[in-house]
Amino acid sequence: MAERIFVAVAWPYTNGPRHLGHVAGFGVPSDVFARYHRLVGNAVDKYSRIISEDLRALGLSYDLFTRTTTDNHRVVVQDVFKTLYDKGYLIKKTAMGAFQEATGRTLPDRYIEGTCPICGFPNARGDQCDNCGNQLDPEQLIDPRSKIDGSKPIFKETEHFYLDLPAFADPLARWISEQSHWRPNVRNFSLNYIANLKPRAITRDIDWGVPIPLPGWEDRPDKRMYVWFDAVIGYFSAAVEWAGMVGRPDAWRDWWQDPKSRHFYFMGKDNIVFHTTIWPAILLGYGNGGRVAGGRGEPLQLPYNVVSSEFLTMEGRRFSTSRGVVIYVNDFLSRYDPDALRFYLMLAGPETQDSDFTWADFVRRNNDELVATWGNLAHRTLVNAHRRFGQVPQPGRLTPDDEVLIETVESGFSKVGEDLAAARFRSALQELLHLSALVNQYLTENEPWKLIATDRERAGTVLYVALRSVDALKVMFAPILPFSSQKLHEYLGYDGRVAGAPERRTVRESDGLTHDVLTGDYTKSVGTWAPPGLPVGQKLRTPEPLFKKLDPDVVVAEELRRMEESGGK
Ligand SMILES: [Zn+2]
Repeated sequence: MAERIFVAVAWPYTNGPRHLGHVAGFGVPSDVFARYHRLVGNAVDKYSRIISEDLRALGLSYDLFTRTTTDNHRVVVQDVFKTLYDKGYLIKKTAMGAFQEATGRTLPDRYIEGTCPICGFPNARGDQCDNCGNQLDPEQLIDPRSKIDGSKPIFKETEHFYLDLPAFADPLARWISEQSHWRPNVRNFSLNYIANLKPRAITRDIDWGVPIPLPGWEDRPDKRMYVWFDAVIGYFSAAVEWAGMVGRPDAWRDWWQDPKSRHFYFMGKDNIVFHTTIWPAILLGYGNGGRVAGGRGEPLQLPYNVVSSEFLTMEGRRFSTSRGVVIYVNDFLSRYDPDALRFYLMLAGPETQDSDFTWADFVRRNNDELVATWGNLAHRTLVNAHRRFGQVPQPGRLTPDDEVLIETVESGFSKVGEDLAAARFRSALQELLHLSALVNQYLTENEPWKLIATDRERAGTVLYVALRSVDALKVMFAPILPFSSQKLHEYLGYDGRVAGAPERRTVRESDGLTHDVLTGDYTKSVGTWAPPGLPVGQKLRTPEPLFKKLDPDVVVAEELRRMEESGGK
């Protein structure tokens, strides 16, 4: 029975091109995860807020990749706000707000910089410190200054709505305690956080964003909902938008009100509390109420898992666009293949601890782990089988060793599958490399390229066993290395796609405006998460190497020179 898996990706607030730090922790991992579930045959709904050509080039596949300025989004956000308000979960409070003295205009939190009162980092923002990861209020900053003109902001009393988080403290504590499948860092961090919950502002003094749907507030040009509040609701509003897009306006209920559907959120560690505490509180408060849900069906689903990565640094330093410590995804992909990057990030990325990207390490893992094991295995198997037989050879009698190897490789579907489903990506990839090494060893021991002169049938059998193993590994590698698995799929003589590719589509809304979404019809794919059963006699196509070996001296020297030129010394 197919499961419904909802995959949400929280991107950091940022404009401009994606850099490696953006995609390392959750962009690529969430894509690997969604691709795995599609191969299993589960229904996957994957959503994120930022559209970008860089992400498509990296192969990131989405069901709906949209923006939060749509009319649909406004309607849903206002419905959630109004429902929480009617149920008494919003508190009106007077607090200090920051304004620019010269203009009287409000200064959004992110436009205020100062010294972090917790760790002393000199460039903390008004909403958060990027050094220690703590959430901040602007008036907590030491020596606050406007990022717009450097002036000292003035603080004035201003009225706002706060989400009554303490009202949810007990249900949240119970719920988080039960989530034994979460990564320990996420669970512990969240339990600590809820021990001291305070009401949190969900409106701001700002002139853009979703208006507040209450009399006396709705028409005010200077009060809007806070961007984090509407951002998390974006996960829900996107499902409502998608249901409208496919012409079944209630279809979102299958995802959000079926207690068996499982929701996975991928993010960096600075976003954990939004997804383990604040968003769940909003969901608990909303229940099935409001105009959108109409009081029908189950309460909206809470997250099943919140998968948080740690930070990626580069050559020992934090990524920083302003300081030139940065590798843009599009720039990277102009010189290297997307699968090489995906491989590196899954093997050496910040899955459970902070990790450091270095060019030397990238080249070493590409050459010694990707090219030398999996790349070498696939290539020499295909080249020999294609040259000697031109098709999948008819095997003779399989020896016990042949059978054990096939069984071992095919048992990967359950072991690797368990790892991928639990978001243990590095472990999955290590198992795949281990299985590749076993098949490599089998080829080296049996030497079909020598056998061919003396025992053609045995040579054919050995190549058949290797081809079957490669075919199975191709499917298991596909979530991580989609581009090369597709090539291999074709070299093995198959047609169609192992897994669908994302495409860009333009959507017209009810107000006549259009926007682009990244989406895909993944139902046409031929791959499934099971041994493919390679047909004997299937014609093979001329193979090419799947991956490129990189010259360590050239790559490291060139890339470090490039970085220096862009100011990142
Ligand atoms: Zn700090």
